[in-house]
Formats: sequence, structure tokens, C-alpha cells
Amino acid sequence: MTFDPNSDISKGRVSKRGRNAGIGVGAGAGGLVIVALLIQAFTGVDVSQFLGGGTGGGATSDESALSCSAQQANDDIDCRVQGAAASLRAYWPQHVDGATDPKIIIFEDQTNTGCGGATAAVGPFYCPADQQIYLDTSFYDQLRSQFGSTAGPLAQLYVIGHEWGHHIQHITGITDGKDLRATGPASDSVRLELQADCFAGAWLGAAAQGDDRILEPPTRQEIDDALNAAATVGDDNIQEKTQGQATPESWTHGSSAARQKWFLTGYNGDPQSCNTFDVSAAQLGDS
Ligand SMILES: [Zn+2]
Repeated sequence: MTFDPNSDISKGRVSKRGRNAGIGVGAGAGGLVIVALLIQAFTGVDVSQFLGGGTGGGATSDESALSCSAQQANDDIDCRVQGAAASLRAYWPQHVDGATDPKIIIFEDQTNTGCGGATAAVGPFYCPADQQIYLDTSFYDQLRSQFGSTAGPLAQLYVIGHEWGHHIQHITGITDGKDLRATGPASDSVRLELQADCFAGAWLGAAAQGDDRILEPPTRQEIDDALNAAATVGDDNIQEKTQGQATPESWTHGSSAARQKWFLTGYNGDPQSCNTFDVSAAQLGDS
């Protein structure tokens, strides 16, 4: 997956924070569970131990906006995030009237957010309170080393598209009234996560088409790479790696098969096809 070197990615809003800017981790344990439920992460790894109370988000003094060219987006991991943001920002208003775009914050190690303090161990997440996506790009290394993913460029874009999908769910009200505490293969949590995978796929399927495209069409191998990432972050795969066996009743993000299925559903369709709340448990792909 490459960006068209002649395309304009200047509208992608991405800022980078310096190491340990705005540290908010380490507050009392009383705030931990609440904070964990307020964020929407990319994987179902238990994040509560990596979150603290914090004191709200907003810019820190050590934060600067990226200003990359499309060519740089092909070579530089931070610039690739900006390219994704520019493409997502162009894509979503075509499907959701008045869709706003979240800002993406790239940080290192730990940072303060509108959802409290977070360390990089949380993995990428969306914070509804400040409508920002938080990403430590070392997560891609973790995908390779810990989860066995190849984590190539299209897989990296899938991660960003997934978190952007949570923003779409937030601003359209899809998240409202859903039980974010629920777990299990057909829980609200899993349906939200699979829908975010589907939204990511829908964007990537469309982003490489049309005259004003920013992305060049992906190769088969790049698509396989994204599917591989989807599989490695399935709850069953993570649980087998971290606790030796899968326990479906505790799933929050869906199985490897389901995450692949819904990424592809979006990729071959559009956001309308991401109807994870309208299908049976069996159709979700988890049973
Ligand atoms: Zn998610």
C-alpha cells in the first residue's frame, strides 16, 4: 500500500507529543475501571492496569502538528498516520452527513488524555471524551513480536481505520445505550468492535478508488497482511498466547475469524454492510 506521491495529505490532523508529555498515570485505583470502559482500544488485552486517573486531555506544551508530504507517508511511520487521516477525513462525510474528524495523537510511552492517563501498553485507542485517537507507533512492533503479525503498511492503516470507526460510532450515536461492560462472542462490545473492523475495511476498499484517491490500490499481499493483523488481534488468538486457552465468555473484540470476516465484509461493501447489530450470533462468525 502506497500513497499517491502527488496527493495532498495536508488535511490529516495528526500531532506528535514528546516522550512522557503530560504524564497522568498512577492515580488512585478507584478511577481505573471507569477509565478503561471509556476508551475503545484495538485489542481486548485487559488495559485497566495501564490506565490511570489523569486530569483530562487537551494539547500539551510539548505537542506539534505533523506536516508531511504524501511521499513521506510512504517512507515514514508517523507520516503514514497523517496520510491515513487525510484519506479517512475525505471518506467519511460521503457516508455520514456532517461527519467530523477526530484528531490523532502520536505519543511515546505514556500520555494524558481526556479519558485519563494511558501508557503505550494500552495499544491504540479512541477516547470519546476528547474525540481523539491515541497511538504509540511502537504498537506495530508489538503486533509483530507479541502477536506474530507481519504488521505491514496496510495493517497499520487498518488499525487507524478501526479507531476512526469508533469515532463514527460515537458521533452517530451507535455507541449510545450499548452495554460496554458486556463480554462474550455476541456481546455489544464485540458487535461494536467488529463493526469498527468493518468500517476500517470499507474505508480501505474505497480509498484506493476514484480520481481523487490518496491511496494506490493495494496488492493481494497487502490485503492478506491486513487480514493477518485482524486474525492476530482476535480474542481467541490473544488469549491462547497469553493465558494458554480461549475463554469466549470474556471476549470483548471477537474471534480471529470474526475480525477477518468483518474487515472483508467492509472491504467488499460499504459502511451500510457493517450491520453487526442486526445479525445473529452465528452470523457474527463466532460460533
Ligand atoms: Zn476497537
